[in-house]
Amino acid sequence: MQDTGSKHGEGHGYRRKRRKIGRHHRSHNEFHNHDEKGHDILRLSDFGPNQEVVITKILGHGAFRKRITEMGFIKSKKVKVIKNAPLLDPVEYEIMGYNISLRRKEADMIEVIPIQDATEQSSNFQGVTEHLTSPCPQKQERADKLINIALVGNPNCGKTTLFNKISGSKERVGNYSGVTVEAKEVKHKYKGYTLNLADLPGTYSITEYTPEELYVRQHIVNKAPDIVINVVDASNLERNLFLTTQLIDMNIKVVIALNMYDELEKSGAKFDYTMLGMMIGIPFVPTVASKGRGVENLFDKVIDIYEDRDTNVRKININYGTDIEKAIALIEPMVEENRNITANYDPRYLSVKLLEGDETTKKLFENSQNGEALYATLNQISIKLEEKYKEKPETILTDAKYGFVAGALKETYIEPKSQSQSKKKNQLIDSILTHKIWGFPIFLFLLWLTFQTTFTIGGYPMDWIDMGVNWLSITIQAYLPQSWFKDMVLDGVIGGVGSVIIFLPNIVILFFGISLMEDTGYMARVSFIMDKLMHRIGLHGKSFIPLIMGFGCNVPAIMATRTLENRNDRLLTMLILPFMSCSARLPVYILLIGAFFPVYPALVMFSMYFIGVLLAIISGLIFKKIFFKKEEIPFVMELPPYRVPTMRNIWVHTWGKAAEYLKKMGGIILVASLIIWVLGYFPRDFETSVKYDTQIEKVNTSSISETEKETKVAAIELEKESERRELSYIGRLGHFIEPAIRPLGFDWKIGVSLITGMAAKEIVVSSMGVLYNTGMEEDESSNRLITALQNEGFSQVTAFGLLIFILIYFPCIAVVAAIRREGSWRWAIFTIVYTTGIAWLFAFLIQVIGNMFV
Ligand code: GDP
Ligand code: MG
Repeated sequence: MQDTGSKHGEGHGYRRKRRKIGRHHRSHNEFHNHDEKGHDILRLSDFGPNQEVVITKILGHGAFRKRITEMGFIKSKKVKVIKNAPLLDPVEYEIMGYNISLRRKEADMIEVIPIQDATEQSSNFQGVTEHLTSPCPQKQERADKLINIALVGNPNCGKTTLFNKISGSKERVGNYSGVTVEAKEVKHKYKGYTLNLADLPGTYSITEYTPEELYVRQHIVNKAPDIVINVVDASNLERNLFLTTQLIDMNIKVVIALNMYDELEKSGAKFDYTMLGMMIGIPFVPTVASKGRGVENLFDKVIDIYEDRDTNVRKININYGTDIEKAIALIEPMVEENRNITANYDPRYLSVKLLEGDETTKKLFENSQNGEALYATLNQISIKLEEKYKEKPETILTDAKYGFVAGALKETYIEPKSQSQSKKKNQLIDSILTHKIWGFPIFLFLLWLTFQTTFTIGGYPMDWIDMGVNWLSITIQAYLPQSWFKDMVLDGVIGGVGSVIIFLPNIVILFFGISLMEDTGYMARVSFIMDKLMHRIGLHGKSFIPLIMGFGCNVPAIMATRTLENRNDRLLTMLILPFMSCSARLPVYILLIGAFFPVYPALVMFSMYFIGVLLAIISGLIFKKIFFKKEEIPFVMELPPYRVPTMRNIWVHTWGKAAEYLKKMGGIILVASLIIWVLGYFPRDFETSVKYDTQIEKVNTSSISETEKETKVAAIELEKESERRELSYIGRLGHFIEPAIRPLGFDWKIGVSLITGMAAKEIVVSSMGVLYNTGMEEDESSNRLITALQNEGFSQVTAFGLLIFILIYFPCIAVVAAIRREGSWRWAIFTIVYTTGIAWLFAFLIQVIGNMFV
C-alpha cells in the first residue's frame, strides 16, 4: 500500500486527538485537533458497536478509494457500527441499509463525525436531460430473431438464481472461460425469439479495479449484447442503482429486473418503480428469481425493447452538476473527433470515463490525432476541479452519481416505517453465528460436520463405485483375449480413471455443503471471523475453506477457490494449496514412517502436516511480495442477509462441479494414466537377464506341493515384472533422472516411483512395491519393502528426505490441470517448477545436514 500511505499521511501527519468514544479507542497522541467547523477529527475506526456516524471525508486513493466509494462510503452518508469480529478485526458496519465488513486499517481511512454533530445535507440532485448523441449502433439487424442478453448486477442480487431458473428449460449451457473469470451462457426459446443469456460476474461498478469489472465492461463493449438486463436487489436499491448510473452513461439498451421484489413487499416499503423507470428511460420489471415470478414479464419487456416498441425507453443524461457538465462539454467534442473510437463507445460515456481518470479509456486515445491535446485539456480540467472541490474528479463523479440515485429515490421510494421482521431475525442469527465466543466453535463444528458427512456418507457410494470398477475389471479380465489392448484397458484406463472416479461422491457432498454455506450467506461470515488470521499471511478470510479442504484432496480445493472474488487472492491460494497434505499422500507417509521411524511415528507424521502448513505460509508471504504486491484491493466485503437457498441453485452448483470434475479431471487423468501405462509397458521385446519362463516351467514340473509352487511362481513373476519395468521406457527414464536425484540419496527406482506418483501420489507406494520386488499389495508387503529399502542403504535421513520430497514435489496431474483451468498454463507450469524445485532443495538440505549429525 505504498501509494495510499502517502495520501494517508494527510491524516496522520498532524497528530489528532481521538475522543474516547465507545469501547475501542486509542490512548496515544492525546492532542487536540479540529477540522474547519471545529469538530474533532475522528475516524470510523474510533467508534464502537451501535454508534452512528456521518462520513466527512475518505482518505487514501487509487483502488482503495474507488472500491470504498462505489460501495457507498461517500461524504454525508450515515454509517452504523454493528459489531467487531471475534478477533476484533474486521468490523461490521451498516451503510445504506446493508451490512459490510471493513478491516480496521481501512475504517481508519474514513473521517467521520458523530451523528448528533452532523448537519442535514441538501441533496445535489439535478435530475436528467435528454441524450442528444445518437445511440451506439449496437443492434445488428438479424433475421433469426436472436437476442443477445447480458445479466449485469451486484454480487448477491440474484443473477445466478435468475439464470438457473431460465437454464432449467435450457437448450444449451456452455462454459466460457475468460482470461480470469467466466461467463455462463444459455439459449432460451421464447415466443419465437431465441434469447441468448450470459451470466456475468457480480460487480458493484464498471471501473477497472478488478478483473471482474473489466470483464463485464469488455463483454458489454466487445460482445455488444442487444439488451443488458440489470439485475437490481430491491431490498438494497441505493447501492444497486449506482451501477445502473454507469450503464446509463454507456448508452446501451437496458431493462432492470427489480429482483427480490418479495423482500421489498414484505418490508413494507413503497417504491414507485414505474415513475423512476420513466424518469431514467429504463423500464423496471419486478421479479422474484427464486420463485420464477416475473421472469416472463421480463422477457416480454426484453423483446419489446429489442423491437423498439417501448416508448418509454430513451437515452438520458444524468446531470452531474454545472462544473462537471461544463467539463464534459469541453471534452466531448474532442472525443467525437475520433470516429473510429466512438463507433464502439458513446462519446459522453468516454468523456465521463476520461474525466474519472480511467486508464483503460485513456489508452484508447493514445494514438489518436488529438490525443495530446485531449490529455492536456483533461489535465487542466482536473486541476481546476480539484482546486474547487478538494477532491479528485473521480470522487466528484461518484458523489454526483450517488447524489442522483439518492435524489431519484427520494421522489419514488418511501422507507418502511419500522424495522422489518426479517431484519430482526437476521440480526438474531448473525449474533449467534459471529458471536465473539461461540462464532469459532460453531464454525469448526459446521466444518467438521461437512467433512464428516463427506467421508461417512460418501463412503457408501464410494464402495458401490469401487465394486462397479472391480466388477468391470473382472469381467474384462475374463472375456477379453490376452493382448496389449486388454492390459491397456485394465491397467491404463480402469486403473487410472477408476482411481479418480471413486472420489466423485466426496466431491458431490463437499460441494453440496459449500453451496449451502454460500447460498445461505454463511460463507461471508466465515470470512468475517477468519479474516484477521488469514490476513496475517497475506490472504483473505475466504481462503480458509479451500485450504482446509486441501487436506482432503487438493483438486476440489482448487475448484473451491472460485468463491474468492479477487483473482489474485484466488491465484495465491491456489499456489500454496499443494502444500496441504492431501489424503493421497497418507499411504506413502504411513509406509515410510512405519518403516523408518517406528519409535516416534506420530511426531514425524505430524511434522509432515506441520511443515506443509509452514511452507504454505512462508511461500504465501513470499508470493504476495513478488507477484501480487501492487494489488491492494481492500477487504470490503458485503455481509448479505441470511437467505433460504433454493434447491435448484444448490443442485445446479453441485452437479456443475461434479460434472466438471468428471470431465476435466477424468480426461486429464485418463491421458496421464495412459501415458504412464505406455511408458511402463513398452517395449515388449526385451532380453531379460534370466529366462524367467523356463524357471517357471521348472517350478511347475517339480515335485513340490501346489501351494509352494504357487508362491515360487509368484516370486519369479514379480522378479520378471521388476526387470521388465527396469527395461521399459519409464525404467530408462528413471535411470536417466538418477543423476539428478542421486544427491538426495535416491536411486532410479525411487525416480521411477516419483515419476509415476505424478499421476497420483498414492501410486508411489505401488510402484515401489513392484520395483523393489515386494509385490503390489500395500499392507502385506510393506515389511518386505522396508527390508529391501534398508538393504539398499536407505537411511533414516534419506527416508525423511524422501517423505519431504513427496510432500512438496509436483502436486499431481489433476491438481496441475485444475490450476491451469482456474488460472492459466503459466501458473500451472510455475507450480510444477517451484514445488519440484523446493522439494529438491529441501531433500538435499536434509541429506547434507542430516548426514553431518547422524
Ligand atoms: P448472484 O450473486 O447475483 O448470482 O446472486 P445469487 O443468485 O447467488 O442469489 C443470492 C441469494 O439470493 C440466494 O440465496 C438466492 O436464493 C436468493 N434469491 C435470489 N433471488 C431472490 C428473490 O427474488 N427473492 C428472495 N427472497 N431471494 C432471492
Ligand atoms: Mg452469481
